[in-house]
Parts: sequence; C-alpha cells; structure tokens
Amino acid sequence: VPLLRLRDVARRFDVAGKRSATAAKTAEKQVLTGIDLDLQPGEFVSLIGPSGAGKTTLLRLIAGLDTADRGERLYPGDVAPSMAMVFQEPRLVPWLTVLENLLLVGDATLEDRARRLLAEVELGGNAQSYPGQLSGGMQRRVALARALLVEPQILLLDEPLGSLDPALENRMMQLLGDYWQRHRPTVLMVTHDLHQAARLSSRILGLDPSLGRFVLNETLDPAQAGQ
Ligand code: ADP
Ligand code: ADP
Repeated sequence: VPLLRLRDVARRFDVAGKRSATAAKTAEKQVLTGIDLDLQPGEFVSLIGPSGAGKTTLLRLIAGLDTADRGERLYPGDVAPSMAMVFQEPRLVPWLTVLENLLLVGDATLEDRARRLLAEVELGGNAQSYPGQLSGGMQRRVALARALLVEPQILLLDEPLGSLDPALENRMMQLLGDYWQRHRPTVLMVTHDLHQAARLSSRILGLDPSLGRFVLNETLDPAQAGQ
C-alpha cells in the first residue's frame, strides 16, 4: 500500500506570487497540471527536471506546506506518514547551536543520536557552533542530519547536497545511501546529478516544465522499488 498518493494535482501561480483566482486577469503560470504519484514504502525516488519545472512546488505540496488548486493528496494506508523535508536553503535557527538546532525536532533523549549523526556528516566538532560560524555547505549538512534524526517515513530532499564540493557530496550521498539501506524510509530527492540519481535510486521521475507533469517514470531496480 502506498504511503502517499497524489491524484491529478495541479498548481498555478500568478505573477504576484499569490494563488490565482479563477477569473483573475493577471498573468498565470501553470506549474503542475495533473500530477499522479504513488510513493511506496521504502523506495528511493529521484526527481529531475530543469529549473522552474516545479520540483520544489511538488515537494512542498507533498509535505503539506502548500495546497493544490486541484486534485487530492491521499494516505492509502489510512495513516499520515511522518515526513521531514530538507530545503535548498538550510533554514537553521541562527541563535541556537548546531546541536540545539538538531534537538529542536526531537528532545534531549535524542542527544546521543544527534551527536552521532553530526559525526556522520563530518561535523562532530561543531556541535556547539552557531550556524553563522559555518560555511553554507556545513549548514546544509546540519539540515540533513536534522532531517535524519527523526527517522521520518518519508524524506523529502530538495537538492540537499548540490553546492558541496564533489568529494564531500559523494561521501554524503554514500551516507544517505547507507541510511536508506538501514532505515528504509521513502526518499524523494530532487537532484541535477543524473549519475547520483541512477546510482542510488530505485525510480527516477522526470518533470517536464512545459507539460507540468512527469515525462519519465522509470523503475531502475524492481527488487529495490519497495513494491
Ligand atoms: P528552485 O531553485 O527549486 O527553483 P527557487 O529558488 O526558485 O527554487 O524557490 C525557492 C522558494 O521560493 C520556493 O519556496 C518557491 O516556492 C519560492 N518561489 C519561487 N519562485 C517564486 C516567485 N516567482 N515568487 C514567489 N516565490 C517564489
Ligand atoms: P523547480 O524547483 O523545479 O526549480 P519551482 O517549484 O521552484 O521549480 O518553481 C516552479 C515555477 O513556479 C517557477 O517558475 C517559479 O518561479 C514558480 N513559483 C514557485 N513558487 C512560487 C510562488 N510561491 N509564487 C509564484 N511563483 C512561484
């Protein structure tokens, strides 16, 4: 049974950035036109598509951070799955330490696990640092650790490692792959890196910017595809 299902989901924006009224005279941009998507337990899905295709919009709709103009978001298993999202920007609380930023989503009983995760993202020495003292890439790794800490059933990743140096990005992808093997969350990851997508994923979705829907839905390894 899929954890989450989208049926005919559409989203458009007007030029001012607000939800368009049906009869609005403002210019509209239809971003998603009719998305159907089932997310199966334990599958690792890569989402590719050019900038502006609506990948971030889709993740926000899945996470419930935005609502569609049309269509449905369903939980076929009757239970809302737990979700965590890693945004393109790290979104850390600047006046809290790195460790405190992690424990925001859990509680003090998770401190040992939080410290282990920080070590895994190679920030073991930075638990007491403040976000402003870290580079952008370090902050993104904090954001990734924070999402993994709560062991969500669905992990939504919006290019979480895009601007890291290639060697570090590889190590973080390895970490993500290991985490996935151990915990088997459903992962939906936006990436521009087709090589990474092919290496880790059980399925690749390609979102077309002019059609506003998937033009690619390719299962790579049926044995790993969760269903
Ligand atoms: P991406 O690189 O994935 O396209 P963006 O940087 O375009 O992401 O968007 C980041 C955030 O800004 C998202 O939450 C998105 O919904 C919002 N956003 C994107 N474009 C606009 C816009 N034209 N007006 C207002 N908000 C926007
Ligand atoms: P992607 O993540 O694939 O780069 P986005 O989902 O960020 O694409 O954005 C898709 C399109 O929708 C872009 O043209 C973007 O400017 C527009 N958009 C996204 N969010 C908003 C928003 N809140 N207001 C207005 N336009 C938006």
